[in-house]
Amino acid sequence: MNLRQKDKAFIWHPYTQEKTACDNIVMVRGQGAYLYDEAGHRYIDACASWWTNIHGHAHPYIAEKIGEQARQLEQVIFAGFTHPTAIELAVQLLKTLPIGFSKVFYSDNGSTAVEVAIKMAMQYWRNKGEERTRIICFRDAYHGDTFGSMSVSARGVFTEPYTRLLFDVVFIDTPDFENGKQVIEQFQVVIKGTSDIAAFIFEPLVLGSSGMKMYSAELLDQLLTICAENNIITIADEVMTGFGRTGKLFAIEHLNQIPDIICLSKGITGGFLPFAATITKQFIYDAFYADEKFKMLFHGHSYTGNPLGCAAALASLEVFEKENTLKKIAMIVSSHQAFASRISTNKAIRQVRHCGTILAMEFHSDAQGYLSDIRDRMYSYFMSKSIMLRPLGNVLYILPPYCISESDLQLIYQTIEDFTVDIL
Ligand SMILES: *Cc1c(COP(=O)(O)O)cnc(C)c1O
Repeated sequence: MNLRQKDKAFIWHPYTQEKTACDNIVMVRGQGAYLYDEAGHRYIDACASWWTNIHGHAHPYIAEKIGEQARQLEQVIFAGFTHPTAIELAVQLLKTLPIGFSKVFYSDNGSTAVEVAIKMAMQYWRNKGEERTRIICFRDAYHGDTFGSMSVSARGVFTEPYTRLLFDVVFIDTPDFENGKQVIEQFQVVIKGTSDIAAFIFEPLVLGSSGMKMYSAELLDQLLTICAENNIITIADEVMTGFGRTGKLFAIEHLNQIPDIICLSKGITGGFLPFAATITKQFIYDAFYADEKFKMLFHGHSYTGNPLGCAAALASLEVFEKENTLKKIAMIVSSHQAFASRISTNKAIRQVRHCGTILAMEFHSDAQGYLSDIRDRMYSYFMSKSIMLRPLGNVLYILPPYCISESDLQLIYQTIEDFTVDIL
């Protein structure tokens, strides 16, 4: 059997209908914004390998730091024990985030970062002796694939098989740039009508998986102000937006209000290792800090605070400084901006949305949504041009590693324009 056949025989892939899917492409090497398959063919990774890769593939500095850590200390139980890299990473994360956060809780991926945040919010109220158990979320939210994170996510194709098992939440309309007043009214109605709201969870500025839906910082600030006035815990899920995606290091830097909890993952290790952090303000931590044992946070994973993940995350933060990554990000932002105005009048496209390094184009299509037909056509077209783009239904988006060159960006833009000529 060759590699493709063995893969087909022995591996079950995520988000894949294995019966109808093409063979998986075997990637053997990565460098910068490129991936190389077993035949030596080169692809531009224009979706940053599921939004994780920020500094480029196989970045030598991060690889080196992981290697050093692996030879020194690869893993240690994180209850009763700690290690220097985890401590240094917490210090650096808190230094890098806007002022107001004070405790870092480590886990393994975006979904667990959200689970931890939900459990913190729930137990916070319990420890305080208040009966508050419901969470407000946006109707199109995506916060992960575990049961808690699915519960606070949109009810749709992703969650359909499990709907009965998800806990009850309060959905409000997803904001865009037109319905702001309506969303705020809905929010106020919910809060007036009940006293059991524990928390509000949101993807700041960009709802990723539901199709790069965007809304304004002003609106989010207004919602956060209402939460502050009503003692509702605010949870910013920056799993996708964190580490530069929106043009600033964190999306919450676009806000005046600082949320109470922030969830980070995906880009946190530069795209090297599964790792996450849930970071809170002091008052959350204080509600668990007690003489009674039952008030402790009942959560942890085997690999909580894994030294390799910590080393990668620390190295990734250093790369931001060393390579002046924010300048590269600014270059992408202005290129995207120019292309966005060029493509916005294209007849194949219904709406162009742009936030920082994310550029999304919603195509006209009959069957909309994640399972839309045009999705497969777009995917195959760009793969045939050696560009990895993974449309969300009829929404094509570019979300590149920050090391991508200006000429590769132009090539992607040109290929998108060619595609629209082909389908019109
Ligand atoms: C991807 C994502 C998650 C889930 O992260 P995983 O690492 O895939 O579990 C949660 N929230 C947001 C906003 C995401 O984009």
